[in-house]
Amino acid sequence: MLASQNRSPQISKLYREHLSPDLARLIKFSGLGTVEESALGTVVTDCEGDEYLDFAGGYGVFSLGHRHPEVVAAVEAQLHRMPLSAKVFLNPLAAELAAELARLTRLDYAFFANSGTEAVEGALKLARLHTGRPGLVAADQAFHGKTMGALSVSGRKTYRDPFEPLIPGVTHIPFGDPAALDAAVTDSTAAVILEPVQGEGGIHVAPDGYLQRARALCTERGALLIADEVQTGLGRTGRMLAVEHWNVQPDILVLAKALGGGVMPIGCFLASSEIWQAYKGRPLLHTSTFGGNPLACAAALATLKVLQRDDLAGRARELGARLQAGLQAVWSDYPELIAEVRGLGLMLGVELREEGFGGSLIMEMAKQRVIAVYTLNQPRVIRFEPPLTVTPDEVERCLQAFRASCQRTRARFPR
Ligand code: PLP
Repeated sequence: MLASQNRSPQISKLYREHLSPDLARLIKFSGLGTVEESALGTVVTDCEGDEYLDFAGGYGVFSLGHRHPEVVAAVEAQLHRMPLSAKVFLNPLAAELAAELARLTRLDYAFFANSGTEAVEGALKLARLHTGRPGLVAADQAFHGKTMGALSVSGRKTYRDPFEPLIPGVTHIPFGDPAALDAAVTDSTAAVILEPVQGEGGIHVAPDGYLQRARALCTERGALLIADEVQTGLGRTGRMLAVEHWNVQPDILVLAKALGGGVMPIGCFLASSEIWQAYKGRPLLHTSTFGGNPLACAAALATLKVLQRDDLAGRARELGARLQAGLQAVWSDYPELIAEVRGLGLMLGVELREEGFGGSLIMEMAKQRVIAVYTLNQPRVIRFEPPLTVTPDEVERCLQAFRASCQRTRARFPR
């Protein structure tokens, strides 16, 4: 390892020479061109000992904060017992995790993968397998991942076009428009895939009635409804699952990010026993070497225990309301910078009037040691997704930094 202290120039050079010169530049311009060293709770510490409040939260990964002691302990214990599965015996942790998720989601069967995009791939394949149909309906600006299938249903052409031809049979429709949904779902549709709150698309909450309409149309026309809760899932929006806000039961549910408790990567898709019948007699039709590994399952089991015991969904509702009210107060003082504040629970977005404001705000926030980032498919929206364990004091510090950043940004862009 390179010497500690200010290692940023050396690491930046390694990025430029061996990872990505463009990424090195992007990180530098965001004002966070420093090297991460350690993290605990809401705080990330860099190599020079500076502490940052993490209001990006790994885009939903760090719902329990960084390095939650119970998740670390569970993983550590498993590390010394059996880190990876031999794959030829029964894997007790995968079985226990599937049962616990079935209890929480009312979907009886689970498949474990290693990331969100991989879990989405599995969900799309299962929809085609079960229905025998090719068609997929997805929303503009949606984000489902960057492997071929997940990218095909994602909604931003910038990421799709360089890789065409992607998988055929995908129809994109505007998010939140029930008439477009009605026109797109046909008797050759295998599935409609939706995020209940579009994350990377710019924190767009599904309008009331939209998911219910999607549910009804899918049922009526024999298509499956896939809820991609990779970012919204497990308490983030103030409910264990975001679909619960509208009382909608999806046919297939996709989880990842927060499921690993901020310690291990894990993704998963779940479905009812009726849909799982599609695999009948073919147990090896969809497999993964590392999916469901004991380390990841131990992390996920500990995560689900903490989430429920500490009612982190309730905490997301309470502190989300506080953060949202604070952001709205800043909005009313800076209407020339901010067009809207929106979101659910601790998944909040601030839409700016111009894309250029975003870079300035993020840089100013970084100077005040608060991490905020924009959404991948909509750079005009800055998102706030802190750990659900965030304290009222940390929320206050974030709001103060945001207010000061707006003031400096307004000075930088005089009208
Ligand atoms: N689905 C949603 C809703 C996401 O937000 C993401 C990632 O941001 C993904 C899928 C892809 O997950 P991963 O980056 O783990 O592949």
